[in-house]
Amino acid sequence: MKSFACGDIIPGCGATFGAADDDGILVQTRRHAVEAHGAAEPGTDSDPRVRPHIHDV
Ligand SMILES: [Zn+2]
Repeated sequence: MKSFACGDIIPGCGATFGAADDDGILVQTRRHAVEAHGAAEPGTDSDPRVRPHIHDV
């Protein structure tokens, strides 16, 4: 199981995500980046920022 807390890279954001693997996290964080943080579709620009902060739980 993997987890990611958006607040690790965007202070003040309380969103957290859980999935079986990294790809499962990234599917969610791409959508979150677009919907919550105004990232350009499809949100994949956030991947390199998110990946180092995905933790095993
Ligand atoms: Zn966020």
